[in-house]
Amino acid sequence: MPYSYDDENIFAKILRGDIPNKTVLDTDHTLAFEDIDPKAPVHVLVIPKGRYVSYDHFAAEASDTEIVDFNRAVAEICRMTGVDLGSGGAGFRAISNAGSDGVQEVPHYHLHILGGRPLGRMLARPPG
Ligand code: 5GP
Repeated sequence: MPYSYDDENIFAKILRGDIPNKTVLDTDHTLAFEDIDPKAPVHVLVIPKGRYVSYDHFAAEASDTEIVDFNRAVAEICRMTGVDLGSGGAGFRAISNAGSDGVQEVPHYHLHILGGRPLGRMLARPPG
C-alpha cells in the first residue's frame, strides 16, 4: 500500500507558517524546532520539508539531496545544542516513532533529538 500523507497534520501547518514554532535550524530541505512539550532539557524535532509520513517513507523515497541535508542538519543541531560527542557533549538519543505500534502522534516524519540529562534505558520490558 502506498504511503498516504495528510496535509492537515500539525507539522505540515508549521511548515506552511500557519502555526508558530521555535526554530532551531532551517535549511533548504529540513526544519528543526523545539518540541512544545519537552521531555528533556534538549528536545528538538527535526523534520524534512517534503511530504513524508515516517522514517521508512523518507528513507525509501526522499532524494539523496534531501537525505544528506537532513542528516547534516541533525549533526548541526547536536553541535548547536551541545550534546554532540565531537565537541565533548554527553550524548543524546535520536528517536523516530512510526505508526500505531511506534505510537506516532504526528504523521509527518520527525526525529526527536533528546539530551541534556541521563535518559535511562531505551525501553522497559513489559511486565510479566
Ligand atoms: P510523536 O509521538 O509523533 O513521535 O511526537 C510528536 C511530538 O510533537 C510530541 O513530542 C509533541 O510534544 C510534539 N508536538 C505536537 N504538537 C506540536 C506543536 O504544535 N508544536 C511543537 N513544537 N511540537 C508539537
